[in-house]
Amino acid sequence: MSEKNLGIIGGGQLGSLLSVAAKKLNIKTTIFCDDPEAPAQNFCDDFIFGKYDDKQKIQEFAQKVNLITYEFENIPYETLNQMNKLKPVLPKPSVNRLIQHRIAEKDFVNKLNIRTTRYVSIDKKSDIETLEDLLPGILKTTTMGYDGKGQYPIKNIEDINSLDVDFSKGYILEKLVKLQKEISVIVTRFGINNYEIYEPIENTHENQILKYSVIPAKINQKILNQSKDWATQIAEELKYIGTLCVEFFIDRNDNLYVNEIAPRVHNSGHLTINAYNVSQFENHVRAVCSLKKIPLKKLHNAKMVNLIGDQIKPYRQNIKLNNNEFFFDYLKKEIKEKRKMGHITTLI
Ligand code: ADP
Ligand code: MG
Repeated sequence: MSEKNLGIIGGGQLGSLLSVAAKKLNIKTTIFCDDPEAPAQNFCDDFIFGKYDDKQKIQEFAQKVNLITYEFENIPYETLNQMNKLKPVLPKPSVNRLIQHRIAEKDFVNKLNIRTTRYVSIDKKSDIETLEDLLPGILKTTTMGYDGKGQYPIKNIEDINSLDVDFSKGYILEKLVKLQKEISVIVTRFGINNYEIYEPIENTHENQILKYSVIPAKINQKILNQSKDWATQIAEELKYIGTLCVEFFIDRNDNLYVNEIAPRVHNSGHLTINAYNVSQFENHVRAVCSLKKIPLKKLHNAKMVNLIGDQIKPYRQNIKLNNNEFFFDYLKKEIKEKRKMGHITTLI
């Protein structure tokens, strides 16, 4: 293997954009995904279809690459661990295991004296009846959730009766934060106290799915500094290598809370492709492949709009864009409701 080959687990839009960034750096990519239709096949150099617990496929994948990274957090720990014995996995598997579990993740953040919303582990319906002070709240599966999947708003005790939830899965009840706004901070850590950090991004969700991201975020200086400090503190504590995103809530009294950590590149960072000299994707590849760190420079303010479900259609048919607009089609074959199909970044 004379040239570098980066293995990526997961073949969605994040895997695609990582592949594009790697190509720019002359690094080949091999994607391993359990979806035979994975759209990243359009962007990577090599593709392996297999279930994530298929030991033979894991072996085949590891043989082809120099190191392994991932585009999503819901990968069985055993899979990452097995791969890590064959080729280095970055960010390391223990980081993924911690963050893929909402309770472990929040316990970890609170131990750093960083604020999260109040939460409690739920094993059965009757647990909630004694927790009125956590209502209104949101019941979430402790693992495997994304884009609001596996979440149930609970306004009051009466709502519990109509809950149709399989409690054998493991749940967390979180107190609802009275949101003023949501922001995210993306940081790429290269080593001890060695970072590049992007300015906070302001995010708007529709039906718990990210719809708009914009820089600059309209926030005060204190929140700007605190969010960047907390994100770097989290990355440092995890001894993280690569790009990480911290999602924050800001309540109506200007209090900052960590919502969740994504141990990977993040949808809110899509605008970094056009707004910065180095995107979150390129920085991730640089960090995990031990390439040179380039000082980050913002070139433009920007706004990103996610194209969800049918919203992609007019753009696919008739792309008329201004010079400051950039359209990305993830080339997903099937249009599904609530599915992120593409995005548009506008430089402002
Ligand atoms: P996912 O893993 O699906 O991204 P999140 O926990 O980030 O799950 O929830 C998705 C969105 O739902 C958040 O960005 C926010 O808009 C809303 N939300 C989730 N939890 C809370 C909460 N405790 N208080 C207020 N809003 C919340
Ligand atoms: Mg989220």
